[in-house]
Parts: sequence; structure tokens; C-alpha cells
Amino acid sequence: MPVPPQPGPQSTDPRRRIPRTDHLLAHPDVVAATGAMGVRVVRGIVRCAQERARSGQIEPEQVLDEVLGALGERPAASLRPVLNATGVIVHTNLGRAPLAPDAREALEDAAGYTDVEFDLATGARARRGAGARAALLAACPEAEDALVVNNGAAALLLAIAALAGTDEVVLSRGELIEIGAGFRLPDLITSAGAQLSEVGTTNRTHLADFAEVLGPGTGCVLRIHTSNYRVIGFTSTVEVRELAGPCREAGVPLLADLGSGLLAPEPLLPDEPDAGTALRDGADLVIASGDKLLGGPQAGILLGRRDLIARLARHPLARAVRADKLTLAALEATLAGPVPPVLEALRTDPEALRERSLLLAERVGGRLVPHDGRVGGGGGAEVPLPGWAVALEPELAGPLRTGDTAVVATVRDGRCLLDLRCIPSQDDGRVVEAVAAARAQGRAPR
Ligand SMILES: *Cc1c(COP(=O)(O)O)cnc(C)c1O
Repeated sequence: MPVPPQPGPQSTDPRRRIPRTDHLLAHPDVVAATGAMGVRVVRGIVRCAQERARSGQIEPEQVLDEVLGALGERPAASLRPVLNATGVIVHTNLGRAPLAPDAREALEDAAGYTDVEFDLATGARARRGAGARAALLAACPEAEDALVVNNGAAALLLAIAALAGTDEVVLSRGELIEIGAGFRLPDLITSAGAQLSEVGTTNRTHLADFAEVLGPGTGCVLRIHTSNYRVIGFTSTVEVRELAGPCREAGVPLLADLGSGLLAPEPLLPDEPDAGTALRDGADLVIASGDKLLGGPQAGILLGRRDLIARLARHPLARAVRADKLTLAALEATLAGPVPPVLEALRTDPEALRERSLLLAERVGGRLVPHDGRVGGGGGAEVPLPGWAVALEPELAGPLRTGDTAVVATVRDGRCLLDLRCIPSQDDGRVVEAVAAARAQGRAPR
């Protein structure tokens, strides 16, 4: 609760000169900081500076500088940590995959000078990211070689540029997809300089459609996983294993853009393709993202034939899309470490989630309700993940987002829903505190 400056008994009391809270909060630099830090943190800083002036530790005229100084000491970046209470595991707006502790540690270790392209034993230059490559090949033994680039889109761009050049990329009309933020894969393919050769129809494409167009002008055949929607009803798609033979006969590489980044089948998502299976089925190269179901840093992962990976690595664009040392470090640690948070959230036991949620409901005075989680931007389109949430009054959603601990909840049907699936259980207490703070803020004069 902000304490207004108390005028002392004498009119000469210097405390009368202490700037008022509303004046301080209206200062442009303070307003700018409030957006990034949240109003509660900023109010706390203001209150603290006023208190120091009131007790005579600083002059009233120093209060503003004190506040601006304290704001400056806050984190250098504006990105704030968030507790994801939406139940959406790979949440694009919240940075997709949260990194595992091992991966965070690896980031820290690689942040300074590091032997990313250097062999400490011999003192000679070494292959960049050899550790991440080895970890990928260990996790996906079906691949002869691997290449890591900046993200999934970059991996596709590089593959198209290197394998097709200005030739045709053959793909089904049922897979001309747009993913988040208006990003259209067909546009990416043509922007790489290749021609689109669309075959089949929106709902049905047959092997014969592909076989008809394969020829000397074909750069590659591309299968794109429709990771964010489903075509149901009268449908027919051509699987990788059906395409493998005709592509091999025509001498045309078969490329599979899997999206999600599963390296092996995941029983909970039976329709989600994985790299190992696609390669065994005959794909020559697969593309996946590092920060979807793989649970690692943003990265584009290419796995498959050694000669094709070498072709990609030699292409001039490879340098433009190469992964940085932090990505390589975090990716290797993710692959070598225990189950990452993304898969833990996916495999959450509904009964355990129910117990945690019930406890939360009791502690914050909410109601336990059934609530399905989702994989989100990473795949598993439309697959509900049965679970639970705590329903609260909808007015809390705003204060929860802007509190000291930012909690992002879902507002649906007039309720603010807190789903603990994507929140580490050791943070349950922070959620309780955040709800209490959000309620207190609602009551406090602003
Ligand atoms: C997500 C996705 C991409 C893009 O990957 P980014 O890592 O976001 O660049 C490409 N293709 C498919 C099928 C995807 O699901």
C-alpha cells in the first residue's frame, strides 16, 4: 500500500518535498520500465526510495535518481521468466520448449570462450559442433549424419536450396501449409529459388500423382507433416515408405519435414511422425525443430544420408543459417540428459496433476475442474491431453500476468483457469503467492 508523504508538524518538514508516488510513476523512464518489470516491482522500488528519504538517508531531491538507478539495476534484458499455466506445452508466444537444467548449465558454460571449433588436445581447428552432432547420431542411430542450423525453417530453406536449386520441388496439395504468424511453407520453397510442383488435391493424393511428375526436372520430393491441423473424412495421403521406392528409382532425394522433432515414436502421440521411423521408411533427409517435442533450444535439425548432409554443409547458405555455440551446447545437453521438461509435461500423470491441482484449489480458494492440455505449436494437432485446472475469478488473469511472478493463465467461459501441467511442481508455492498478490493488487488503490 503506497504511503503518501506525511506532512510533519512543522511546515518546514523536508519530508513534504518527497515526490509523490503518482508523480514518480508517471515519469517516462519509470513508465517504460513498468511495461517490462511489472507495476508491483516498480511500485516497490518507488516506495523504498521514498522510505529512504523519509528516514533521512537521502535527500528528497534524490528520490527520483534513486528510483531510476534501482530500475537500471534490474535485469539487462526485457524478457521475463513466466510460469506457463495454460496447459499448452509448446507455447509459441512463451518461447516454446523450456530448457532442462542440464541444458541451462551448458548454456552458461558455453557463454564465454569455448572450444566450439577447436580441439584442445591437439590445438588444431575442429569441426564445429561435433558434440551436438554425436549426440544426435546417438539419439537417432538411423541417421548417417546430422547438421544443426538456426531453426526448422532455415533447415528447409537450406535443404531446398542445396538439393533442388532452381529445379522442381514436388509436394502434395494437401501439405501446402501455413504455420504460426502467417509463415507459409510454399512461399519459403519458392523464395529459395525452386519451382513448386503441386500434385494431388487438398484431401487426396496418390502415389501415381507423384510418379507422374518425377523426372529430370525434379530437384526433390518433399513431405511436410501437417503439424497444426488435420484433414479428416475422405482423405488419402502418400506415406514416406510408399514414396521411397519411386524416388530412389528416379534418383530424386526424398525429404521429410517432420516439424515436431521426435527422434523416436512417442506412444502418447501415435500420429506424430519421428525421425528414426521416417529414415527407416526410406526418407533420405528429415527436418525437425529443436524446440518443439525434442525439448531443446531453437534449432533446425537435419538428419539422414551422409552425402546429402555434406552437400548441404557445403552450400553458401549453410553459413548464413548456422547454429551458434549456445544452441549447440544446449542441444547436446538436452539430448544427453534426462527426459526434458516438454516430455515430462506431455507424460504428466493425470492423477498426480489432479492432486497438485486440488491442493492449489484449496490454498487459493479456487475450484478443481477437468481441463485438457495441448501439445501446442509443436505438433499433436487436436490431441487432447486429459488433465485438470483450478478455476478462479476471471479478473485475476491480468494481475497474474503483470505481477512480480508473471503467471499466464487461460480465460475461458468467464473463468481464469490455472493448469499446472507445464509448471514444475516445486513452483506450486509461487503460484499460490502470485494468486494472493494478484488478489491484493485488485484491492489496493492504484
Ligand atoms: C514448426 C514447423 C516448421 C518451422 O520450424 P521452426 O523451427 O519454427 O522454424 C516447419 N515445418 C513444420 C512441419 C513445422 O511444424
